Amino acid sequence: MNYIDSHAHIFSEEFGNDFDEVCLRAKQAGVHRIMIVTTRADEARKAIAFAKQDPYRYQVAYGIHPEDVNLASDELLKEVKEIVSMPEVSAVGEIGLDYYWEKEKKEEQKELFIEQIKIANEARKPILVHSREAMQDTFDIMCQYPTRGLMHCFAGSAEMGIEFTKRGYYIALGGASTFKNARHSLEVCEAIDMNYLLTETDCPYMSPEPLRGKRNEPANIPYIAKKLASVRKMELEDFVEQVNQNYSRFIGEKK
Ligand SMILES: [Zn+2]
Repeated sequence: MNYIDSHAHIFSEEFGNDFDEVCLRAKQAGVHRIMIVTTRADEARKAIAFAKQDPYRYQVAYGIHPEDVNLASDELLKEVKEIVSMPEVSAVGEIGLDYYWEKEKKEEQKELFIEQIKIANEARKPILVHSREAMQDTFDIMCQYPTRGLMHCFAGSAEMGIEFTKRGYYIALGGASTFKNARHSLEVCEAIDMNYLLTETDCPYMSPEPLRGKRNEPANIPYIAKKLASVRKMELEDFVEQVNQNYSRFIGEKK
């Protein structure tokens, strides 16, 4: 099986001790492509050097997370621009708005989000969007500044999901869709155009059932894919193949 993990922080310190085993387990589980999401420039450079050994298997994304809005500066944005224009980088992210952790800095976050959308458009790379308790503002900005993008860990309604996909944006669902109270994300999974659905772990966070509470890793994608395939009433093979095509289209490999 060729599973996709479209959002994995495998260069975060949680994987410092057993990185090789984590990559090996992903391989053994049939997870054949992984988007490595980084939030620091030095982390991005390490991931880029690593991904070079197998650029089909590993993609790299880098951007300033909305929780790091306080770190943003012209200098840092210049560095983002420089890194994401490298051919080894496939996406700008994660970027977006977080009104849960950063309630006070809404205007600064919006400005930073827009700046990074512009950088992504200039570099012709898609964006990975983090949106927490900020769905309407996220949507408004993505309508005002059209780009290619993916809603990571999507927590909006089915109606909102449809509105995003109508504008060409992808929706990634992860561990939350396996939880007992997952009604919301399952409705999204059922309602949206299958051509815009992606799978993700968001590891080390958001472990799917039955591993909830433990450190998450790319090898857990099958739990998520099986759940989503059953919701779509699809054979697992067909579901996984469709997600593969979606991912490839998302990162710009084919139209
Ligand atoms: Zn993330």
